[in-house]
Amino acid sequence: MSNNTFNSGKIFFCKKCIFPSTKPHIEFNDDGVCTGCLAYSNRKEINWDERQKKLLEIIKKYKKKNEGYYNCIIPSSGGKDSHYQTIKALELGMNPLIVNIVPDKISELGRHNKENLKKLGVDSMEISLNPRIRHRINKFGLETVGDICWPEHITIFTIPKKISVNMNIPLLFYGECPENENGGPLEDQDRTVLDRRWMEEYGGLLGLRTNDLSDVLQIPKEKLVLYTYPAKEELEKVGTTALFLGQFFPWDGQNNFEIAKQNGFRTYTKDVEGSIVNYENLDNVYFRVHDYFKYLKYGYDRVADWSSWHIRRGRLSRDEAVKLVKERSGKFPEVYLGYSLSEILDEIDCTRDEFIKICDKFTNKSLFVCDNKNKLVKDKDGNLIFKNSEYI
Ligand SMILES: [Zn+2]
Repeated sequence: MSNNTFNSGKIFFCKKCIFPSTKPHIEFNDDGVCTGCLAYSNRKEINWDERQKKLLEIIKKYKKKNEGYYNCIIPSSGGKDSHYQTIKALELGMNPLIVNIVPDKISELGRHNKENLKKLGVDSMEISLNPRIRHRINKFGLETVGDICWPEHITIFTIPKKISVNMNIPLLFYGECPENENGGPLEDQDRTVLDRRWMEEYGGLLGLRTNDLSDVLQIPKEKLVLYTYPAKEELEKVGTTALFLGQFFPWDGQNNFEIAKQNGFRTYTKDVEGSIVNYENLDNVYFRVHDYFKYLKYGYDRVADWSSWHIRRGRLSRDEAVKLVKERSGKFPEVYLGYSLSEILDEIDCTRDEFIKICDKFTNKSLFVCDNKNKLVKDKDGNLIFKNSEYI
């Protein structure tokens, strides 16, 4: 296995899917196949019955422990996976409490789907963060680590765990272990438990810590309660255990969508901007900016993600995927779900010029065409030109 070659500036692509070597945490075997593809082909060897038996044993313990009460928490965005997780938990005879975290700016579609999730027959707790503080953190995340959605990335871990501790509900069901299909180190692909180490290593926090916010932005600690992970002793006292459901059932986003759709989940009218599906990331209007920065830093975005997952499942050929990437990847995030970039920038008090400067700061120049003064070349719509689009 070799690690990615981001620092050397050379990019290559998985021989089977189209994940690039710049993708964080990805590794490749000697045949140039990524760990995401290897993990997917290894699924055939997994004894799922055995795993589900193990899950039933775990569940039994928590049902007994929390008899007459909620016996698990499902951290939720109200999306297709949250629908699937909830349906699965109900099938398993659980009494889940849904912890619904409202994004920075919620779309109408996102609101519909959050309401729909409750109709599956569950109690739902909805948490919204103080927008004055949050918008400062959005901007800080964008400026310092190139991630406008940093608040969301941390709170999907911290809030459900706080509620676990405070309401004495030890078991949490997250969805897929992202390292599995996204090609993390093989030793981490069989992890069933999401703990603090996992959150810090893979949770997309990019080295930014809640303490940094308090220090640099001078936000009082009491205003950052929901951004703070519970203390080790608190978690141990309750026995908080967060499991990835995807380690017990073969995970497939499209299949989750089909099930969600049969249960009232609504999609966008066309493929979501910057993607090749119409059923994902429908709630958070900021998401397109987040995804665009992934493209600037690593040269791939949601188009390559979904294409790669589809290739593994025989739904798309590699050539078709390359074509889709060339047509759709990396477009300047002018509009998302019908909301304009300026609406988002106004919210976080950022001008368009400032935004473009931040984009340029986070762009990996070795991946894009520059002029003879090493300045990024852009077309009339502000789109960059990717150097390595041949996918050899
Ligand atoms: Zn691959």
